[in-house]
Amino acid sequence: MGSFFKDNQDLVAAFEGLDLEEVVDILESGYDDPDGPSDYEDAMDNYRLALGLAGEIAADTIAPLSEEIDAHGATFSEGEVTYASGSEQAYQRLGQSGLAGVIVPRKHGGLGFPATIYIMMIEMVSRADASIMTMFGYQDIGEAIAEFATDEVAAKYLPEYAAGRHIGAMVLTEPGAGSDLQSIRLKAFQDEEGQWRLRGVKQFISNGNGQLLLVLARSEPDVEGTFGLSLFACHGGERVQVTRVEEKMGLHGSPTCELYFDDAPADMVGRRRYGLLHVLHVLNHARFSVAAQALGIAEAAAREARAYAKERVQFGRVIETMPPVADLLIGMAVDLEAGRAMLYDGTQRLDLRNKLEERISHVKAEGGDTKPLRARFKRLAAQVDFLSPATKYWVTETSNRICYEAQQVHGGMGYMKELPLERFVRDVRITTIYEGTTQVQVAASIGNALADTLGDLFDGWDSVDRRPETAELVARLSALRAMYRSVAEAASDCDESSREAAARCVVDAYLGLYGSYLLVNQAEADDRKVRVAQRFVAKTEVAMATAEAVFRSGIHDSFRNVGTIIG
Ligand SMILES: Cc1cc2nc3c(=O)[nH]c(=O)nc-3n(C[C@H](O)[C@H](O)[C@H](O)COP(=O)(O)OP(=O)(O)OC[C@H]3O[C@@H](n4cnc5c(N)ncnc54)[C@H](O)[C@@H]3O)c2cc1C
Repeated sequence: MGSFFKDNQDLVAAFEGLDLEEVVDILESGYDDPDGPSDYEDAMDNYRLALGLAGEIAADTIAPLSEEIDAHGATFSEGEVTYASGSEQAYQRLGQSGLAGVIVPRKHGGLGFPATIYIMMIEMVSRADASIMTMFGYQDIGEAIAEFATDEVAAKYLPEYAAGRHIGAMVLTEPGAGSDLQSIRLKAFQDEEGQWRLRGVKQFISNGNGQLLLVLARSEPDVEGTFGLSLFACHGGERVQVTRVEEKMGLHGSPTCELYFDDAPADMVGRRRYGLLHVLHVLNHARFSVAAQALGIAEAAAREARAYAKERVQFGRVIETMPPVADLLIGMAVDLEAGRAMLYDGTQRLDLRNKLEERISHVKAEGGDTKPLRARFKRLAAQVDFLSPATKYWVTETSNRICYEAQQVHGGMGYMKELPLERFVRDVRITTIYEGTTQVQVAASIGNALADTLGDLFDGWDSVDRRPETAELVARLSALRAMYRSVAEAASDCDESSREAAARCVVDAYLGLYGSYLLVNQAEADDRKVRVAQRFVAKTEVAMATAEAVFRSGIHDSFRNVGTIIG
């Protein structure tokens, strides 16, 4: 029996290194639910078992189906979507194993786990088949309904969803509203009986044929901007027609639907006019999910590359011994570990942020003093506001590069359908586009990067007592932080347009610091990680020098000549 959990030592170490105690203590308040864990250790045992199960399903059930899923894909005929049989089998197996509602609270039929555990599962499922992630990995829909909807609405939608009998879809995009969700036009109105109804078109909706649609719609026709939109849950059915399914580059198992809402009945989720803010909460989770999807695909690709490079002989030697190939392999491995470190550090902060918010409401309701909690919450919220888009940006772009390089290591064979490399390259491509494009994520990150939002964390990590190997690396990171301050100053001195143009290299440099510290921390107890951290710190030195050079060279201002240069 295979396992995409147990065969991945870095993922196992990430799990064993989690510190979710405060999160779980709040989540399980009092540990008195007979269906829940008896204490923190018991909860961690449950999570370990569930990760083991997800790892086995990914390896033994889903991965063997992925070729068939890609070849047949989801099909569309006479208004009906039919999944590839492999997709149905895979999702059924996940649902039957109780994994369709990992972050849905137990009272609504889910497991009620922290997001971090669920996102680890997404990584494994995506390593097996990236398209199944769009069925398994949109559980934020369920979490949002549990969080924002009334109990009555939650009871109407969640049990079937958490049991895996309904498929969910996040229904935001329209032909005229992609990155710019404030432009959404799909109309929400109340009929004579007060029933909310939805009318209009949505586009590019993964699994839009599903039975639980979370829809962002314009409930206030006269209000432009953030407060004109509300969030709705809708069962789909006859009044939601799939009018088209896209032919696309990858993710063939996942139907990407155009939908027409024909006065479809719907239930409001959360506060009227607060739809966009609720969606931003969902996106905070969902961006980490897409990062995990990308990382899973990249993990699969890098493994193929490693195995191939060990066997393939050219010029009388195995290609892994050739420095340029070895450099590619090492670059992939180090970036995978850096991405994983960022991802699960970020999700832990997300979990804690969300649980502290809950605790604050609780303490407030009991008339207690919330001030100390609020100060911590504020810091964590700023960290998550940075890490959610920034990690999504970095991990998805890096995973694209890893898949490309893994294909390169295979030479001509990498181009052939016979091997899965070309599929990985096709599947991973979407991850820098959906749930917010790279450019949008960078724009969402730059303010916090310039404000040195992670500065407190870096200070804390600077002051840890370390062994010589890691102390040397931390000294280099301190020097890099000083350099970063001058980069940030140069960026702050620019006008807004130049800053926007240069934002990506600034975010790269800042994330480089963050990833480096995380790897150095892991290296305290692991000699192999010292080498990994050394490589990543060196890479960050290059990224920092690049950022400095960008401002010195003035290349970030060349956008002003766009008309002249591109004609
Ligand atoms: C396969 C697939 C599945 C999808 N699934 C879903 C789904 O389930 N639910 C859903 O609601 N949507 C889904 N989408 C839609 C997806 O989220 C959008 O395509 C994405 O957000 C980008 O929007 P757009 O395509 O309109 O591009 P545009 O917004 O038109 O962007 C075009 C270009 O302009 C850049 N750009 C735009 N605004 C800015 C800015 N402010 N600053 C800098 N650059 C900018 C972008 O980076 C991009 O390069 C899916 C899309 C695809 C292709």
